[in-house]
Amino acid sequence: MKAVFESVNKNKQYSTDSARWIGDDGELLNLNFEAKFFPDLYKSRISGMWKFREAIPIEHDKNILSFNESTTPLVNFKLPEGTIQLKLDYLFPSGSYKDRGASVMLSKIKEWGVKKIVQDSSGNAGCAVACYAALGDISCEIFVPASTSPSKLAQIKMYGAQLNLVEGSREDTAKAAFEAAQMQHYASHCYNPFFYHGTKTFLYEVWEQNNFDLPEVLVLPAGNGTLILGIDIAINELKKSGLCTIIPKIIAVQAENCSPLYNTVNNIPIPKWKETLAEGIAIAEPVRANEIIRAVKNSNGMFLTVSETEIKNSFDLTCKQGIYPELTSAACIAGARKYLANHSKVKSICTLITGNGLKSTDKIIKLL
Ligand SMILES: *Cc1c(COP(=O)(O)O)cnc(C)c1O
Repeated sequence: MKAVFESVNKNKQYSTDSARWIGDDGELLNLNFEAKFFPDLYKSRISGMWKFREAIPIEHDKNILSFNESTTPLVNFKLPEGTIQLKLDYLFPSGSYKDRGASVMLSKIKEWGVKKIVQDSSGNAGCAVACYAALGDISCEIFVPASTSPSKLAQIKMYGAQLNLVEGSREDTAKAAFEAAQMQHYASHCYNPFFYHGTKTFLYEVWEQNNFDLPEVLVLPAGNGTLILGIDIAINELKKSGLCTIIPKIIAVQAENCSPLYNTVNNIPIPKWKETLAEGIAIAEPVRANEIIRAVKNSNGMFLTVSETEIKNSFDLTCKQGIYPELTSAACIAGARKYLANHSKVKSICTLITGNGLKSTDKIIKLL
């Protein structure tokens, strides 16, 4: 079955034969698509997200944009509160898990024959989109907040993208990109549902690495929710296909300094956000807020927040064991520790390193 665009309230459908990222009346879109799984086949295929080819909604193999990314390692990682499974997604080509989404979204953009795209990001999504656009020879313009880490700016530029720095908030950057998107295709990781059908492969790999079952608990970052929503899709696909016995609880982590979703769920007024070490999840107005909250609730999970001190301490502890994450990624370690401290009986708990520490060297030096 071919994928079909479907509005979030399921009222409207659009063909995926031509390029689009939003409904005619501004509705957010998802995909109606039936993923197929072949566990016996996976052993004979090369490592990486595209081994789950029949679960990824790209029609023709010739359009696939991939560096033959490897399945990222899943290691046992000791914390003072217990041992967790840690998936090393910082080892992707552009240095973050966003490459999963970019590989699928840019493949679809190639399939559409779109030659020029515009995108906005607080950093890593811009790196990932510029990286896969370079592979596909697609011309690319990226808008980022002027405060983005210089190493990410250099990376975006060196991939050949046109880089536009925007003064002001993350929302000002989105506005500038929106305007540019009147003329060019908007390859937004938040809006374009094909991106989520890339991030979902994180869960497929965890499933394979747990002998084709799932851990009890997944601790995930909650910024725009591109990972949470992708994983929610994948859990439902595996559940529907009867391919897992455990349905994981999603524990969604926000920084105390910017926690709009946590506050909404707990009926706490939302103060103006403050700066945080976890810049990658400092999203004050996530466009898919309702969907993220629904996904976490459906999994019987919860939102939790971590303080700047907890992020910093977990960053130190992770580095001391030979893993060098972005500061943002340390928020998930801090979240896993907080969860374990209150739920010591949990049998399997998994989180990830979302991004490479080399991307935020400037911010890390300031902490030394
Ligand atoms: C994007 C990103 C996140 C958060 O992901 P969302 O999709 O915004 O929820 C976490 N860590 C890093 C390093 C990121 O780049």
